Amino acid sequence: MKIIVCIKQVPNTKEIRIDPETGTMIRKGVPSIINPDDKHALEAALALKDNDDEVQVTVLSMGPMQAKEALIECLCMGADEAILLSDRAFGGADTWATANTLAAAVRKIGEFDLILCGQQAIDGDTAQVGPQLADRLKIPQVTYAQSLTLEGKTLTMDRQMEDGWQVIKTQLPALVTATRKLNHPRLMNIKDIVRVTSQENPVQVLGLADIQINPDETGLKGSPTRVKRSFSPTIGSEVHMINGSTSDIAGELISVLQELLLVKK
Ligand SMILES: Cc1cc2nc3c(=O)[nH]c(=O)nc-3n(C[C@H](O)[C@H](O)[C@H](O)COP(=O)(O)OP(=O)(O)OC[C@H]3O[C@@H](n4cnc5c(N)ncnc54)[C@H](O)[C@@H]3O)c2cc1C
Repeated sequence: MKIIVCIKQVPNTKEIRIDPETGTMIRKGVPSIINPDDKHALEAALALKDNDDEVQVTVLSMGPMQAKEALIECLCMGADEAILLSDRAFGGADTWATANTLAAAVRKIGEFDLILCGQQAIDGDTAQVGPQLADRLKIPQVTYAQSLTLEGKTLTMDRQMEDGWQVIKTQLPALVTATRKLNHPRLMNIKDIVRVTSQENPVQVLGLADIQINPDETGLKGSPTRVKRSFSPTIGSEVHMINGSTSDIAGELISVLQELLLVKK
């Protein structure tokens, strides 16, 4: 059984700081980590591998060369193979172009049974890449998995909903996005650290020329989304006190919300 886990390296910060000049995120001096949800996706794959030696786990990431660090950490947790998609042509990709590029890499990898992604990345935060990747590969997708069991070729998941969960069954091949409720990611282990650090190039790097993709469908060129302006919202401390009877307060509150276009007139 072949499992592919999509891993994104992200800045280790909840407080994204935007460079007011360029409008892009300040990454300098911000340590990078494996996107937290992706560790739960990897743990789900490694748990299936614990129960079946035939399971092969490949971790796949698109990013700058520094993303190798994140992939090496995954190998030291127990993944068998790591592939980094890195090329200037992939830079500036939005979720559409990211999904196109990951799909081209999966086609290059060949046969697979299961793709695991994180529910969402803590920087872009769109939760779009997993479902888009499933669309490109024309396979079923189940998002927000909080439990996952495999019997033969049938996957059964509890899908997290706002007010409970759905029980969903699907046949492989399929794509699943992992929530943090799914499991507790394991740490790196000595055996795999020794195995990985004894390899000269534990991470295979693929560029534009190595995958079948039209250059106009990847990177900035392939991105229908353009970040027009990004900025850190200024947290104001202005307070607007509303006094009077309950109906006065309610009336004034509504007109304030209407002014802020938060409530229709
Ligand atoms: C502040 C900010 C805002 C952005 N807003 C948008 C936007 O509104 N629309 C848009 O199209 N793009 C946006 N982007 C660009 C977007 O981040 C990238 O396209 C990114 O590669 C994927 O989107 P995401 O971060 O939202 O990931 P998500 O869709 O939230 O990621 C879901 C899962 O997909 C997998 N995955 C995501 N990226 C990769 C990768 N590079 N390699 C391997 N697996 C991956 C991981 O398993 C991840 O958990 C934004 C980026 C930033 C930094």
